[in-house]
Amino acid sequence: MDHADPTLCRALVVGGGMAGLATALALGRTLPRGQVPLVLLEQSEAFSEVGAGLQLGPNATRVLHGWGLESALRACAAYPEALSVRDALSGAERGRLRLGERARLQYGAPYATVHRADLHRLLLEAVRADGEVDTRLAQRLQSYQDRAEGVTLHTEAGAAFQAPVLLGCDGLWSRVRAQGWGDGPPRFSGHLAYRGLVRMDEVPASARRNEVTAWLGPRLHAVHYPVRGGEWLNVVVVVHGDLPPQAHAWDNAAHRTDLRRALGATCAGLLELIDRVPEWRLWPLYGREPMTGADQHARGRVALLGDAAHPMRPYLAQGAAMALEDAWTLQACLNDGAAPDWPVVLQRWAEVRWPRNAWVQARSRRNGTVFHARGPLRLGRDAAMRLLGERLLDVPRLYLGPPPP
Ligand SMILES: Cc1cc2nc3c(=O)[nH]c(=O)nc-3n(C[C@H](O)[C@H](O)[C@H](O)COP(=O)(O)OP(=O)(O)OC[C@H]3O[C@@H](n4cnc5c(N)ncnc54)[C@H](O)[C@@H]3O)c2cc1C
Repeated sequence: MDHADPTLCRALVVGGGMAGLATALALGRTLPRGQVPLVLLEQSEAFSEVGAGLQLGPNATRVLHGWGLESALRACAAYPEALSVRDALSGAERGRLRLGERARLQYGAPYATVHRADLHRLLLEAVRADGEVDTRLAQRLQSYQDRAEGVTLHTEAGAAFQAPVLLGCDGLWSRVRAQGWGDGPPRFSGHLAYRGLVRMDEVPASARRNEVTAWLGPRLHAVHYPVRGGEWLNVVVVVHGDLPPQAHAWDNAAHRTDLRRALGATCAGLLELIDRVPEWRLWPLYGREPMTGADQHARGRVALLGDAAHPMRPYLAQGAAMALEDAWTLQACLNDGAAPDWPVVLQRWAEVRWPRNAWVQARSRRNGTVFHARGPLRLGRDAAMRLLGERLLDVPRLYLGPPPP
């Protein structure tokens, strides 16, 4: 296909999810103003996010507060008082971590829970309010060429763009990664996530708490927490299983009966809650091995951020948080006011980010093994929680981040 003359840009961000919006926000606030626009390309016809929740540890809320979004976050988030870890079979509490005021005091930022659409909207509104980013919808990246003088990008609709840098924020199935890294698609983990939302006034009284509750069972776990200022409860259940026939690689309709079957003999309190959720969606969980070097984050004038670079199992609740941190650190690596030498900036940024992202990816995977443990490992886990309490459940190295460049 013949392409028109490319639109010249200061920077090109591909993808308008959490990573793309955060990156665009960070660049818009840091890059020197110029004659040409900073462009974000999103393949969808409208900006949107799935109906589910997100936990945001103090490392993530610190970034949002740093961007001046504290009061916007407060208007839509819930701030749980504790994490309660329970046995999914007996219902007994096995461990407890105080969040609320303790997290604020210890980490200087709160532990929050939000609806994904609320966080996405909040970032989009900040990008729009700054007025520095030209957001273009219905633009799907088809291919790009990374040359010494800059990157030229083509969309499926036949548009062309040229910029000194390309930030690939195009998620798990990243085309930027496929073309520039060619390391194959992500792999199915053998885990299925069922997700649902229920109005708080429909929730059984035992679960109507301002807490994150994690239920651990053999080959399964469930997590629920309030969102939308506490008006709704977000529920996620992860079970082991095969890919359902004809399943999309992401969001699918799901049936409670399948979930009930997978849950087997879990306790009445959890099953009662499951039965109150009006609609379930099913997400097969895909992932990659933890990162092994800076080269997996950036090559030349092209970088990968968020899930495009480091998809992770959701068992530490940090995928979106790491996307925010990626953008925050990129901003810190740019010298305010100076025209960036992009290959140098991206290299420095990648050296800071990859070890932390690799650690979080590995720790998330390890959490899955511990959460779903059976037999002696399960007994050891419960004994360790009894003995070590908060020391086992807290993760200061994570929550004190992101590390400075
Ligand atoms: C069950 C579950 C629970 C989770 N819980 C948490 C949690 O509690 N806390 C947390 O921090 N994280 C959590 N996560 C992880 C988090 O959802 C992801 O890490 C995060 O949403 C990734 O954002 P992203 O912007 O990198 O990717 P995406 O959200 O996938 O965004 C990618 C964007 O790029 C666009 N795009 C793709 N290809 C192209 C193309 N070729 N051209 C143009 N645009 C394109 C897409 O349309 C999309 O808008 C959870 C994940 C799951 C599955």
